[in-house]
Amino acid sequence: MSYTFRQILIPPTKYSIKAPYIMFPQFITVHNTANDAPAVNEISYMHSNNNQVSYHVAVDDKEVIQAIPFNRNAWHCGDGGGSTDPNALKKGNRLSIGIEICYSKSGGACYGVAEENAVQYIAKLLKQYGWGIERVMKHQDWNGKYCPHRILAEDRWNSFLNRIKKAMEPNESEQQTEKDDDTMKFTSTTAKAAVRDYIKQAVDKNLIDKSWLEKFDNGTMTSGDFEGLKIIIAQRSN
Ligand SMILES: [Zn+2]
Repeated sequence: MSYTFRQILIPPTKYSIKAPYIMFPQFITVHNTANDAPAVNEISYMHSNNNQVSYHVAVDDKEVIQAIPFNRNAWHCGDGGGSTDPNALKKGNRLSIGIEICYSKSGGACYGVAEENAVQYIAKLLKQYGWGIERVMKHQDWNGKYCPHRILAEDRWNSFLNRIKKAMEPNESEQQTEKDDDTMKFTSTTAKAAVRDYIKQAVDKNLIDKSWLEKFDNGTMTSGDFEGLKIIIAQRSN
C-alpha cells in the first residue's frame, strides 16, 4: 500500500450545499479530475467554493483524502436530484461514493501511481462493504459524461476493474501471516494485565529471562510460547 489516508471533512455548515441528503451508499463512482492538481488542492477547492459540486474522496500519488462522510450524498454524477430507488436509472448522486483520481489531465507517472492507489483503495472499500466489482461505476454510466476521461480515452475501463478484482484477492504474504499468526489475543485489558503480571513475577524471581516480558510487551509472544513458558515457570518454582 503506497498511500496514506486522511480526512479533511467539510464543515456540517456546508452540508446543505455539498451533501444535503443522508445516504446509504450502494455504488462507487470513479472520476478523473481532468486537472493536474494534487488531492489536497482539489479538496481545499471544494471546501472553498459554494457550488453544488462535491465528491467524497480524492486520490493522488501519495494520499487518499476523504472530504464527505459516506453516509451523506455528494454532487458528482450529473444525474440531478436523482433517486434513491435502486431500480431508478438516475441514482448516482444519491447512492454512490464519488472518487476522484487526480493528475488525469496530463497523465504520466503521478497519474499512474494515483490510479493504482485508487485501485487499492476501491478494493478495500468493496471488501469493507461486502460488495462485488459490479458496484463500481464510471461517471459516464450515470449521465453520459466522458469521465473518467483518461481511463476511457486509453480504453482501460475493463482492465481497471480487473485490477480492482485482483487487489481484492488476499495476497500470499497476507495468507501466510494469517496462517502463522498465533500471537496471544486477549478479550480484555484486565486479562492481558493479569498475564503480564504473571510473566513479570516470574522474571522478578529470576525464573525466566526478561526477554520474555519484552516479547510479551511487543506483541510477538505466541500462545505456544506461553504454554511452554508456563511449564518452565511451574518446574522452576518447585
Ligand atoms: Zn466525473
